[in-house]
Amino acid sequence: MIPFLDLKNVNQQYREQLIEACTRVIDSGWYIGGKELEKFELNFAKFCGTKYAIGVANGLDALILTLRAWKELGKLKAGDEVIVPSNTYIASILAISANQLKPVLIEPDPDTFNLDPTKIEAAITNKTKVILPVHLYGQLAAMPEIMQIADQYDLLVLEDSAQSHGAEVKSRKAGNLGHASGFSFYPGKNLGALGDAGAITTNDLELANMLRALRNYGSHEKYKNLVQGVNSRLDEIQAAMLDIKLSYLDQEIQHRRKIARLYLDNINNPFIKLPLNNINAEEYQQHVWHLFVIRTEHRDLLQKYLSDHGVQTLIHYPIPPHKQQAYQEWNNQSYPISEQIHAEVMSLPIGPTLQLDDVQKIIHLCNQFNPL
Ligand SMILES: *Cc1c(COP(=O)(O)O)cnc(C)c1O
Repeated sequence: MIPFLDLKNVNQQYREQLIEACTRVIDSGWYIGGKELEKFELNFAKFCGTKYAIGVANGLDALILTLRAWKELGKLKAGDEVIVPSNTYIASILAISANQLKPVLIEPDPDTFNLDPTKIEAAITNKTKVILPVHLYGQLAAMPEIMQIADQYDLLVLEDSAQSHGAEVKSRKAGNLGHASGFSFYPGKNLGALGDAGAITTNDLELANMLRALRNYGSHEKYKNLVQGVNSRLDEIQAAMLDIKLSYLDQEIQHRRKIARLYLDNINNPFIKLPLNNINAEEYQQHVWHLFVIRTEHRDLLQKYLSDHGVQTLIHYPIPPHKQQAYQEWNNQSYPISEQIHAEVMSLPIGPTLQLDDVQKIIHLCNQFNPL
């Protein structure tokens, strides 16, 4: 079986270094909020090109706490509206609801799967305070257009960069394109910990300070609590391992791009629609291919056919957020573009250790597929 993503293999590559890092932390006697976190935060901020990175417990918390920090700083209040793509992974929307803010769902551009900037202005009301673009599947949302609208209407922009570490436009990376950005280091993400972890990047010192307090009971200084914070910390062992994996991220992204290039150039089947090919656009979006997502009207058949021939595929995502029971109040609303995307998408294997001859095998199988 060619697995969708072989995480064991991914981490085996760095086994010796990871063990060394864990041993260093074990022997240090210091496990939360120390040198390892400080070092990783500095290196991750440098990677993204931002002034600050603040480690937290996971990607969802990165988004929740950023919106919460803006509330604490008086920039948002309960009931304010946040514009978010209707086809995102539900975490982006949960972060909005968790802050008593109102998610306003906008349909994506069906070619890029990302927020359609031409639909944003019509959704802006006097309660709109934030745009939350999601760089889905590793491809940047249309940030230059989004930032222009945000400037015009005086809105904050929170990037959801959980799937797009290293994606860039005009040499600026995900995490350095809005006012703040949430990252996830869930094990399967392009930069993955060996457990849960996340971070926020920003160039805003006031926001960074508030986030550092919020993640640690609202405390800047030991036993002094400025705000009613939470416990959402990135521990020393995960930070030490992430710092090692960060040093290989560019190399891993190059391998993902090589696989994507092969799929794009060689899959040729009228029943399979390939993702928009902008892999060579130097001036514009540099895709990091967290997922290689194709579309087909014959998804169940294609998935079964590939599985029968030893290829594991996944669906990102089978149910749109507005059809989830968690958001029952939206179940009768209609977002036809999202609904079609959710019915047709399928993710082919891609990852830093996927062998190119396996990629060729998958290409061959895709080209042989005939549902009729
Ligand atoms: C993974 C993911 C998150 C949440 O990250 P966790 O670390 O799992 O909490 C948020 N948004 C998107 C788009 C994601 O893919």
